Amino acid sequence: MKFCSQCGKPVIQRIPEGDNRPRHICEHCDTIHYQNPNIVAGTLPVWDDKILLCKRAIEPRYGLWTLPAGFMENGETMEEAAARESIEEANANIELEDIYTIISLPHVNQVYIMYRARLLDLEFFPGSESLEVRLFSEQEIPWQQLAFRTIHYTLKNFFADRDLGKFRVHTHSIY
Ligand code: ZN
Repeated sequence: MKFCSQCGKPVIQRIPEGDNRPRHICEHCDTIHYQNPNIVAGTLPVWDDKILLCKRAIEPRYGLWTLPAGFMENGETMEEAAARESIEEANANIELEDIYTIISLPHVNQVYIMYRARLLDLEFFPGSESLEVRLFSEQEIPWQQLAFRTIHYTLKNFFADRDLGKFRVHTHSIY
């Protein structure tokens, strides 16, 4: 950040009184611009023994496969964000189930929150951010062409839990 979003004057970086880390501060209007992690919300849509994946039509990781997920918007709930991303990327009609993975990515200031979801029909088709959307069985998952380690982690746990017959929430950090 170079300029104050409140008044347009240049900002400086320093530790505010009573704080313990540098912040962008506007000395003109006294605004402290806090920056905090972004939440990525997504789903793991299931149909029988298969999972819906999307082939990315956008950078980063163009052409690689991912679960429907994206940045939460202001004014949304977690559940609304996860469902919206599933529509935007795959036009997938889903019913959300429980939270499944919560993954901290401190190096990029993100937290992934992925829900298990039930795919309600097979009417899905690629949204503008996807080249292709299709169902994969465990054997068909393109493990070497997954876009993100968060997706790899979520899928790996899903199949392991499914084998055990019991899903639990997994929290994890990726550095
Ligand atoms: Zn200002």
